[in-house]
Amino acid sequence: MTPKLAIIIWAISLIAWVAIRVPHQNRARKTRVASNAKTLGDRLALAAATIGLSVIPIIFVATGFPAFASYPFQPWLGWIGLFVEAAFLCLFYASHRQLGKNWSVTLEIRQEHRLVTDGLYRYVRHPMYLSFWLWAIAQACLLPNAIAGMAGLAGVAVLYFSRVPNEEAMMRAAFGASYDDYAKHTGRILPKPWSPIR
Ligand code: SAH
Repeated sequence: MTPKLAIIIWAISLIAWVAIRVPHQNRARKTRVASNAKTLGDRLALAAATIGLSVIPIIFVATGFPAFASYPFQPWLGWIGLFVEAAFLCLFYASHRQLGKNWSVTLEIRQEHRLVTDGLYRYVRHPMYLSFWLWAIAQACLLPNAIAGMAGLAGVAVLYFSRVPNEEAMMRAAFGASYDDYAKHTGRILPKPWSPIR
């Protein structure tokens, strides 16, 4: 693994992320919203994730800035980055597919919203956010720069910790006891194998 190859893997993954996301974004525009829990805080958290996972690493890859934070590339980290990036894309693709029309970029309940509890959602409540953690880990492995590498983890941490409690409160308000029961048998990003959904 060379530094150049690591950057190509990082860039292809970013493009693949866009290619997976765009059709869902287009469909979401046509799916009616029943209620939303969007807040300024949530928009800022989304912006933090975007800056950490794309703006800062794109600037680094294009210009080498901030050069003072760069360190020698470690090929073994690059290989780990490749595998984590592949796991990210598989999880991201599958969670988007399984959420289907119920997906929103922000916190929204659709008019015909269905609580998804199968596929990946049978095991964890936030497989898409888990995929974002993997994306951020891959970025840290592939980009040999302390700031550009870690920016993704910082951005995902802001989004994850600020959004998840609000998202779960919104889902609980919409689905009541069914969501409580679902939450009892699933973990947020790690499965609860001792308490599976019957
Ligand atoms: N947190 C989930 C979904 C992220 S997309 C994940 O990480 O996979 C965010 C939107 O998905 C929210 O606005 C909510 O409306 C919807 N959502 C989250 N969990 C859901 C579920 N189990 N079933 C249906 N919709 C869900």
